[in-house]
Amino acid sequence: MDADVVVIGAGALGLSTALHAALAGRSVTIIERDTAGSQASGRAAGLFKSVQADQLRTVLARRSIDRARSFEAWAGVPLTVAGSGSFLIARTSAHKQYLQQEQRQSQAWGVDVQDAAGPVLSYYHGDASELALWCPEDIYIEEPADLVRAYAAAARRHGAQLLEHEAAIGITLSGGRVTGVETANQTITTPVVVDAAGAWVRQVADLAGGRVAVAPVRHQLLITERSAGVNGADPIVRVVDAAVYLRPARGGLMVGGFEAAPLAVDPRAEHPSFRTEDLELDLGVLRKLTAPVAAEAPLAADAPVAEHRGGLFTMSPDGRFIAGPLPDVPGLWVASGCNGSGFSSSLGIGEALAGWICAIPGRLDISALSPGRFGPLTDEALIDAGMWQYAHYYDPGPDGSA
Ligand SMILES: Cc1cc2nc3c(=O)[nH]c(=O)nc-3n(C[C@H](O)[C@H](O)[C@H](O)COP(=O)(O)OP(=O)(O)OC[C@H]3O[C@@H](n4cnc5c(N)ncnc54)[C@H](O)[C@@H]3O)c2cc1C
Repeated sequence: MDADVVVIGAGALGLSTALHAALAGRSVTIIERDTAGSQASGRAAGLFKSVQADQLRTVLARRSIDRARSFEAWAGVPLTVAGSGSFLIARTSAHKQYLQQEQRQSQAWGVDVQDAAGPVLSYYHGDASELALWCPEDIYIEEPADLVRAYAAAARRHGAQLLEHEAAIGITLSGGRVTGVETANQTITTPVVVDAAGAWVRQVADLAGGRVAVAPVRHQLLITERSAGVNGADPIVRVVDAAVYLRPARGGLMVGGFEAAPLAVDPRAEHPSFRTEDLELDLGVLRKLTAPVAAEAPLAADAPVAEHRGGLFTMSPDGRFIAGPLPDVPGLWVASGCNGSGFSSSLGIGEALAGWICAIPGRLDISALSPGRFGPLTDEALIDAGMWQYAHYYDPGPDGSA
């Protein structure tokens, strides 16, 4: 078998890159060790956020919102999105200042971010002491599997082949260049391999002697039982000082958050069969995170839990995506460094990365996200930086470095 492009990993980032390469007329094969969307992508909260810490991420996030809304028109497969908008809320003076600064810079980059009163919603009771910003562009996808299914169906429709239960176990090289991918069943000859293996991105790069600077870090959310106290039409709420997000889900409330001392997990140190379902979850983390919003969102703190799920983010040292060619292994490309936004930004990242691979004129320049931007890093330094980025997801610190 041969292909112009082989994508390893059928999560949101791999599927989007594959779909866009197929739309560009390339023959594409996606190989997935388990099933499409079975790892991080199938567990995402599904939130899209137009306010981002830098201009490139803003462009990617807004492009992704547009492309999710218009998915059927360009990909030929229906996709339902909730055009809910969102509130960004701050209750401490430091976080208020921070949000005001984010508002100014996001507005300068074209984002619609409006001053608002502390919102009074079915599930969140704000007040006048809060700083609230209304972000009407923001959306969510109720079930993350819907985007995965839409990507897979659209990729197939445009000629891509998706092979599930087919793990990459080798990457072949000739004269240092990529020539193919080996699975237990076959060798696929190709000049271009995209490593989109999520939390396993380093193991896959290592098959060709490449290095990718990511630290996998656990993230969790819960969905409460259905409740008359949640209006499904209400918007998303992000309380930045508490580092929590809330949205209606399945008739109840979804609650997720970012703890200050997260759990880093290295799949390389685990059993080779390690999967997301083996990740230990800790409801206590979410209970601690929601305590500071118990007055405003009582359901978040104490409603019975219908689902508690979690998975691994791929954190990078600077909090930005990692997307581009690996400098030391010609033909090997990376789509990773999700930093918690890989589901929502996958539409824009996949489009830009496939555009780069296929040399499409006028594509968005994402060379700032090249994997080669990091010098050599010890695992310890990588984990420290990744955990710092995670803990500052809504609040990138005084120098705005995230
Ligand atoms: C609880 C939770 C909530 C989240 N909420 C949001 C959100 O609201 N918005 C947002 O934008 N992001 C969110 N994220 C982050 C988002 O899920 C990730 O950024 C995104 O899913 C990453 O996609 P991926 O394709 O890199 O990884 P994955 O979805 O993990 O896909 C990688 C795939 O590679 C496969 N693979 C690994 N090794 C091999 C191999 N050797 N051969 C073949 N295949 C292999 C895996 O089986 C896997 O299917 C959330 C994450 C979690 C865990």
